[in-house]
Amino acid sequence: MNLPAFDIPKLADRVSSMKPSATVEMSERIRQGRAAGRKIFGLSSGDPNLPTDPRIIEAGERAMRGGETHYSTPAGMPALREAIVRYERKRSGAIYDPADILVTPGGKFALLTALMGVVNPGDEVLVPQPGWVSYGPCVRLCGGIPVPLAMLDSIDPGIVEDAITAKTRAIILNSPVNPTGRIIPPEELAAVIDIARRHNLWIIFDQVYADLTYGKPIAFAQATAEGHARTLVIDSMSKTFGMTGWRLGYLAAPSNLAKQIVKFLQHSIYCVPPFIQAAGIEAIALYDELVPQYRSLFRKRLERTVDVLSTIDGIECHMSDATFYLFPKVAGDDTTIAKRWLDTLDVATLPGSAFGPAGAGHLRLSLTMPDADLDLALERIAKAGIAQN
Ligand code: PMP
Repeated sequence: MNLPAFDIPKLADRVSSMKPSATVEMSERIRQGRAAGRKIFGLSSGDPNLPTDPRIIEAGERAMRGGETHYSTPAGMPALREAIVRYERKRSGAIYDPADILVTPGGKFALLTALMGVVNPGDEVLVPQPGWVSYGPCVRLCGGIPVPLAMLDSIDPGIVEDAITAKTRAIILNSPVNPTGRIIPPEELAAVIDIARRHNLWIIFDQVYADLTYGKPIAFAQATAEGHARTLVIDSMSKTFGMTGWRLGYLAAPSNLAKQIVKFLQHSIYCVPPFIQAAGIEAIALYDELVPQYRSLFRKRLERTVDVLSTIDGIECHMSDATFYLFPKVAGDDTTIAKRWLDTLDVATLPGSAFGPAGAGHLRLSLTMPDADLDLALERIAKAGIAQN
């Protein structure tokens, strides 16, 4: 249909100035390639290929059939908040009251909720680099200014101090780290908590990969009294239970903050659908049975892939502490190599520079595909290597 052209108003700067996420963009290119009949091996998506356990699905269905299809409390159903309190205590040792927990549609919205709660327009927020692609845009959505903080292999307290100005309001930490799979060691975390205390900053601690670890314990920012008082915890059911599409996560806040921050939920989403929350209660109840299996599956995949990549000239790869990501160093331009592998091998990875300049010279491989496909993808990578032809 040919419509006459009209002048229409401009979009808001907050949207038009925002770059599309590199991960979503890659997923789109994969979708287009597949639609054109290519079999593309996707080593780029952060969506674990774990089917949601049928008991979790049944719990959601039961709740729906039982009438849980109405508005629920904006902070989250009491039974889920209580389960989250127990889940938190078991992993980080931190003691929360259910009133300190806000249930959100995924970890991403927990992050936005936390930032909405603590960032004023013009405030600066230190964001990890290389780091997850949504930190900067979420800070901007709150009117804040993201300030990248390089922390590829370690956090240097001097660099953190240097990045702090009178406008700094918060620091985002992510452990285990997307994209590197690193767990921030206790001494580095303690140094950052001390800096945050001296400059009176909030810490936003994103622990969405905390369940996929391979032996090394996680140091949690909320585990000490000093850390707990200034930390907003971000977590999610997405990665732990293969529940990315359910959109279920949470925010855990120091005492008496959640009742303020919940106003943002009340006036935006109102609440997470109660039947989704019922599924979350079941997921947490199945933790001890399910999570060790998932951990061992990803561990084997990671180890196998490290073995193969380590034989390739120009690739330096070590085992990750956690997550399902590898972040090998490549002797060449990461964007060119990722593009070549996609175009010539039909293997999709992400260039490390998509996670900020500090990630340049690396590729992120996400081992979220069936083992047989992973083997084929690795065979192609091993054969082609990173050389020009
Ligand atoms: N934090 C990090 C570091 C992530 O990688 C992701 C997802 N890729 C999230 C938070 C959010 O996940 P979700 O919204 O699915 O819970």
